[in-house]
Amino acid sequence: MSNENKTIHEFDLQLICDFFSNMERQGPGSPEVTVKALSFIDNLTDKSLIADIGCGTGGQTMVLAQHAPGQITGLDLFPDFIRILNHNAGRLGLQDRVRGIVGSMDDLPFGQEELDLIWSEGAIYNIGFERGLNEWRKFLKTGGYIAVSESSWFTDERPAEIHDFWVDAYPEIDTIPNQVAKIHKAGYLPVATFVLPENCWTEHYFAKKTAAQEVFLNKHAGNKAAEEFSSLQFHEEVLYRKYKEFYGYTFFIAKKR
Ligand code: SAH
Repeated sequence: MSNENKTIHEFDLQLICDFFSNMERQGPGSPEVTVKALSFIDNLTDKSLIADIGCGTGGQTMVLAQHAPGQITGLDLFPDFIRILNHNAGRLGLQDRVRGIVGSMDDLPFGQEELDLIWSEGAIYNIGFERGLNEWRKFLKTGGYIAVSESSWFTDERPAEIHDFWVDAYPEIDTIPNQVAKIHKAGYLPVATFVLPENCWTEHYFAKKTAAQEVFLNKHAGNKAAEEFSSLQFHEEVLYRKYKEFYGYTFFIAKKR
C-alpha cells in the first residue's frame, strides 16, 4: 500500500499519541466555535454534570470550563492526553471543576440519566455517529443536551479522490440533512446545526500540526514510521485545500426528548 493511501489506523498508537500530544487540540475546532455551540445550551448550573468524550489534551475542555458552570469530566483513551489535560486544568486553576479520566467511549463510567451535557468535538467518529448518539443517550437526563462535531459531506456528489479517501477513513460520513435525521431518530430534538468555519482547519489545525510536526520529527529523527505518519498529515491538508467545498466539520447541538 502506498504511503498516501495509509490511514491513521495503521500506525502505532504511541506514535500517533506522541505526535498529537504536541498540539492543544487534536481535531478541527476553535475556542470561538466551542463558545458558539455552548450558546445554544440553556440548562446549566453549578450543579450540572458535563462529560467531554474523546477530550484529547483538553483544549476545548478548558474553554468549556471557562464559559459554563458545572463539573466537567474529560474522558479519553490515551493516558498521555489525560495527563496533559489534568496538568493544564491545574495550571488554569480549574482543578476543582475539571477532571480528566482514562476510559473508552464504548464503555462510559457514568450513571443512567446522570449528565446534563455530553460534549464531544471531533471524536464521535471513533464509535460511529449513530451508535454514539444511541448509546450515550441513556447517560443524559431528559432535557439534557448533546453537542458533537462530526465530518459531513456538503454535496450529494463529489470527486472520486476525496470520496475514496473518506470512505476508507470513515464510511459513516454523511450529508448534514441525513445526520440531522439520525439525531431525530435517536430520540433528540435537533436544536442547532452549523458548519465550522475554514479557519478551524487552516489556522487552528493544519498550522498547529505543522509546528507539532517539527518537534515530532526532531524527536524521531531516522524513524521511518514516524516520517510516514508525518507525511500523511500533510496529505490530509493537501486534500482539504483541494476539496474543501465538498466536506468539512459540522457542529450538532441536540436536546434529549
Ligand atoms: N476533542 C479533542 C480531540 C479530538 S481527536 C479535540 O477536539 O481537540 C479524537 C480523540 O478521540 C483522540 O483524543 C483519541 O484519543 C480519542 N479516542 C479515540 N478512540 C476513543 C475511545 N474509544 N474512547 C475514548 N476516546 C477515544
